[in-house]
Amino acid sequence: MPAFYEDNLKYINKRFKNIDSRAIGDRIKNIQWPIWKKAKVCEVTVNSICNNRCLFCYNSEKDFNFPEADFKTICRSLYEGRAQGCWIAAIIGGEPSLNKDIGKIASFARKIGYDCVKICTNGLKLSDKAYTRHLAESGFNMFDISIHAHNGKIHDKLVNSKGAFSLIMKAAENVKDLSMELGTNQVVNKLNYKDFPEFFKMAYIDLGINYYNIIYSHYRGMMWKNKIALKLPIAKTVGKIKKGFKIIEELKMPVFSRMLVNFPPCLFPDYLNIIADWESDESIGDPLLLPGGETVNMSQMKNEQAKKPASCEKCALNDRCRGVDTEYLELFGEKEFKPIKNKNIKNYFKTMF
Ligand code: SF4
Repeated sequence: MPAFYEDNLKYINKRFKNIDSRAIGDRIKNIQWPIWKKAKVCEVTVNSICNNRCLFCYNSEKDFNFPEADFKTICRSLYEGRAQGCWIAAIIGGEPSLNKDIGKIASFARKIGYDCVKICTNGLKLSDKAYTRHLAESGFNMFDISIHAHNGKIHDKLVNSKGAFSLIMKAAENVKDLSMELGTNQVVNKLNYKDFPEFFKMAYIDLGINYYNIIYSHYRGMMWKNKIALKLPIAKTVGKIKKGFKIIEELKMPVFSRMLVNFPPCLFPDYLNIIADWESDESIGDPLLLPGGETVNMSQMKNEQAKKPASCEKCALNDRCRGVDTEYLELFGEKEFKPIKNKNIKNYFKTMF
C-alpha cells in the first residue's frame, strides 16, 4: 500500500478512538482523500434542465430552460478553480447527467489534477448500470445522489416523479457495486423532517453511504411557489436531526462532510464544525460557475442573499456569521434565532477535516 494510505490511516487511528476506520480506509483508497486537507471545491453548473420537477427546487419553471453551458466555458471554469487551489470538482445542474459532454467533463477535470470529481445528481439515469460504469470510467469518483425520504411515497411526491425512488435505490446499488464513494443530499421540508432517524438508518445501514448532507430549503423558485404545502420552521428540525446523529454515533461512522447545509450556527451551537458555509468571510469562498457562464464567489453570493436578525448583535459569532436567507425571515420572522453566548464552542463530533 502506498505511503499516502499508511500515513492517513496512522493519523486517523491516533486521533479518533471510537470510529470504524475501515470506512476511512476505503475512502482513502477510492479517492485519495488527504484526510487532513480542507475541502476546496470548484462547483460547476453544467445545465439547468432536469428530468424531475421537485416541489422544493430553488429554480423556478422558467429557469429550467436556460441553455446548457458549453464545454469550453466549463473547462475554463475548472481551470480557474485549479488555479485557486481547488482539488474537488463538483459537477451540478439542473441535472448534470443530461449534459451531452458529461463524460468529457469528468475526464478533463481529472486530467488537470482534480483528485475528486463529484456528480450531484437526482440519480435517475444512474439506475442503468452501464451508464454508471461509464461515468466512473470517465473520471467521476464521488456520487451525490439526492434522496429526499426513506420511502417511495414521500420521495416520489417531493420530486414529482412516480417510480423515482425505486430507480435511485438501484442507482445507489450501482455506485456501491463499483466501490465508488456514495453520498446523499436531502432537502428538508414539512413532508420529510419527522423521519430523520429512519432516513439515517436507511442511508447508513441499508445503502452504505459514505456521507450525507442535510440541506434546509431555500425559499425560492418552486419552493417559494409550494411554500404553503412545504414550509417548516427551521427550529422544528433540530430535535429530529439530533436523533439521527445518534445513529451515526452508534454505527461509529466517521463524519466526512460539513453535513448541515443552510443552517445558522445558533440552531446547532454544539455542531459548529459540521455546518457548511455559514461564515461571511469572502476570502474563504469557493468558486461557482452559474448558468450563463459567470463565475462567482459562493460566499459573496450567499452574503447577498442573507440578512441578520436583530438578535445577532448580541451573538458571540456576530462578526463571523452571515445570518439567514432573506426569504426565510420574510416568511417566518426572527424569533427562532437566539444569540450564542459562549465563544468557546465545543464540537460534538470529531470530524475528518
Ligand atoms: S449571528 Fe445571528 S444568525 Fe448567526 S448564529 Fe448568531 S444569532 Fe444565529
